[in-house]
Amino acid sequence: TVRTRIAPSPTGDPHVGTAYIALFNLCFARQNGGQFILRVEDTDQARSTDESEADIFRALRWLGLEWDEGPDIGGPFAPYRQSERKDSYRAYALELVEKGHAFYCFRTPEELEAIREARKSEGLNPGIKGDLELPEEEVRRRLDAGEPYVIRMKVPEEGTCRIEDMLRGTIEIEWSQVDSQILLKSDGMPTYHLANVVDDHLMEITHVIRGEEWINSAPKHQLLYKYFDWEMPVLCHMPLLRNPDKSKLSKRKNPTSINFYERMGFLPEAMLNYLGRMGWSMPDEREKFSLDEMFSHFDINRVSLGGPIFDVEKLRWLNGLWIRESLTEDQFAARLQQWWFNEEKLQSLLPHVKSRAEVFSDIAPMASFMFSGMLPLKPEDFSGSKLDENQVKEVLQFALWRLEAQRDWTKENLFADIKGLSKAMALKMGDFMFPVFVAIAGTPNSWSVMDSMALLGPDITRARLRNALH
Ligand code: ATP
Ligand code: GLU
Repeated sequence: TVRTRIAPSPTGDPHVGTAYIALFNLCFARQNGGQFILRVEDTDQARSTDESEADIFRALRWLGLEWDEGPDIGGPFAPYRQSERKDSYRAYALELVEKGHAFYCFRTPEELEAIREARKSEGLNPGIKGDLELPEEEVRRRLDAGEPYVIRMKVPEEGTCRIEDMLRGTIEIEWSQVDSQILLKSDGMPTYHLANVVDDHLMEITHVIRGEEWINSAPKHQLLYKYFDWEMPVLCHMPLLRNPDKSKLSKRKNPTSINFYERMGFLPEAMLNYLGRMGWSMPDEREKFSLDEMFSHFDINRVSLGGPIFDVEKLRWLNGLWIRESLTEDQFAARLQQWWFNEEKLQSLLPHVKSRAEVFSDIAPMASFMFSGMLPLKPEDFSGSKLDENQVKEVLQFALWRLEAQRDWTKENLFADIKGLSKAMALKMGDFMFPVFVAIAGTPNSWSVMDSMALLGPDITRARLRNALH
C-alpha cells in the first residue's frame, strides 16, 4: 500500500509551504487508498520547540488536513517524533562503519578548512571530502582516548549520480558536488539525512513527496538506501511556492504563516483550494473545488513544474467565492463568530472601549483596527512624530526584528521588548512608541499599543509593522 508523509521540523511558525506539501501527500495517499503519516523531525534540539509543534498540528487541522498516524494519535510505527527515537539511530550509523560505508572523523574545524583550501587549489570541489579518514589503529587509539568524533558517510569522488523523480524524470548530479555528509554528530544525535532515511524505511514510506529544495540531498539519501540495502521510496520533488515577483516565497514579501491567514479571516476551505491550485489543476480547469473533489480527481502527473505563484490577491478573490457560493447565512454567521465576534474576543475589548467612549456609537470607529487586516497608511500618518523619516523607519524595523524573535507573546514581554529597544536606541519611550502606535492602530490616539499588540497576536502585529515599512 501507498504510504506518504509530511516531516516538518518544529522550529517556527506553521508555514504555508508545509500545508501545501502536506496537501499533495494526503491527496496522493487517498487517491491510492493508502495512508498519510505525520512525523516530527526535531533532531535539532536547540531550535525545536513544543509550541511550534503544537502550532503546526493545530494549523494543519484548521485547514482540514488530517493524518492517519502521528505523534499525537499514535500508530503502528510509533513513536513518530524523532527526539523519542534518538537512541535508535546510532546503531544504523555504526552498521555503515562496520560495512565500510562510513567512518569516524576526528577532524577539527581548522583541519577541515585546510582540507577545503587544499582541494580548492587542486581544482577540486572544495566541499568536505577526501582526506578525512585515519588509519585503523589511529582511529582505535583516539576512540579509546575518548576523543570527540562524528560519523561521516563515504561518497564517490567521481561519476554521475542519477536520481529518478516521479515528476522530473532522471536528475543528474555529479558526485564531485556531494560532500562526505555527517550522519551522526559529536553529541550523538543523527543529522536530518540519517534520521530521515532510517525513519522513512522503518515507517514503510513508499513515496517521498517534498519541496524541490531537497533535490540536492537526494544523492546522499539514494546512497544511504544502497549502503543499507533497503528499497528506496519513489521520490517526487514539488515546485516551491513563489512570491508574485517569482522569488521563493518568503515572509519579507508575503506572510508565510498559516496563522496569519486564519487571523486575517480567510476560510480554511479557500486556503486549501488555493494551495491545491499551486502547480496543479482540475482536469476541467475549474478554479473552485473542495478537498473531497480534489481527492476524487487527483493525479500527481498534472503537477506542472513552473514555480507556482502564491498571490494573496488571488486567494482573496477565491475566498470571496467561497463566502458567496458555499456558505449558508447560518454558516457564515457561525464562522464570523468563531473568527472575532464571540464572547471571549469582544470581552477582551470591553475595558479599553469602556474607559474611552462617551456614547456607544464611538465604539466602532475606535475599535475597528482590532478587526481589520492591513491598515491603509500614508506617510503623513507618521508626521506627528518627533523623529525624522529615517528614524521612524529604524524604529519600525528594529521593533519588527525584535518582535519576530518573541516566542512568548504576552503584554509584559512586549513591553520589555519595546522598552529595551528604546533604551538601546537612546530614544524616549514615547518617541519610540509613536511610529509603532501608528503602524498598529492607524492613529496615535488609542489605548495602550501593548494591549493592542497582545490582543492582535504576533501574526497581524508583525504584518502591520512590515506593511508600515513599505
Ligand atoms: P522564510 O524564507 O519565509 O523564512 P524558510 O524557507 O526559512 O521560510 P523554513 O522554516 O525553512 O522556511 O521552512 C518551513 C517549511 O516550509 C519547510 O518544510 C519547507 O520545506 C517549507 N517551505 C519553505 N519555503 C517554501 C516554499 N517557498 N515553497 C514550499 N515550501 C516551502
Ligand atoms: N524535516 C524536513 C523539512 O523540514 C523534511 C524534508 C523531507 O521531506 O525529507 O522539510
